[in-house]
Amino acid sequence: MAAPKSFTNLVNNLSILPGVGEKTAERYVYSLFEKEDEEVENLAQSLVDFKKNIKLCSNCGCLTDDDFCDICSDKTRDKSTICIVEDSKNVFFIEKTKKYSGYYHVLNGLISPIDGKNPEDLNISSLMKRIDENLKEIIIALNPSIEGEVTSLYIQKLLEKKNIKVSRLSYGIPMGGDIEY
Ligand code: ZN
Repeated sequence: MAAPKSFTNLVNNLSILPGVGEKTAERYVYSLFEKEDEEVENLAQSLVDFKKNIKLCSNCGCLTDDDFCDICSDKTRDKSTICIVEDSKNVFFIEKTKKYSGYYHVLNGLISPIDGKNPEDLNISSLMKRIDENLKEIIIALNPSIEGEVTSLYIQKLLEKKNIKVSRLSYGIPMGGDIEY
């Protein structure tokens, strides 16, 4: 007997997630079977809500439910620094350390010609529009991978003629290491 259609369907849909192969998806489905109706409905609803509400901040590119993220909306932060990161995950991580009070700029990717990712595919041009008289320093905090290096150099080159201090945070992290660790 083949598995019921609703079972196979859910396994297939869960398998779209990174790291979730057929075995893991099946384990999730068995686990969902044990859950209360309300718990499963809440899970389904939060998936729909997330996809409906989540977007990128119009200013920095970080994930947000509003047009502007909480950080960009916070006028008390340090206007003299912008920290450039690869994705929103890095923002949430740095925020957790409570060691940084400036603003962020999220590239949402790295330059990678092999994967067809060019500078224009990243959130870079909007960074240039954020440069004003308040801004004194840009901190590039990208992972020290080949893509991270290429992207850092590209941005450094762009900023060369601007009167802004550019620093790199990634030094000291082993090659291939992740900023998060
Ligand atoms: Zn923002």
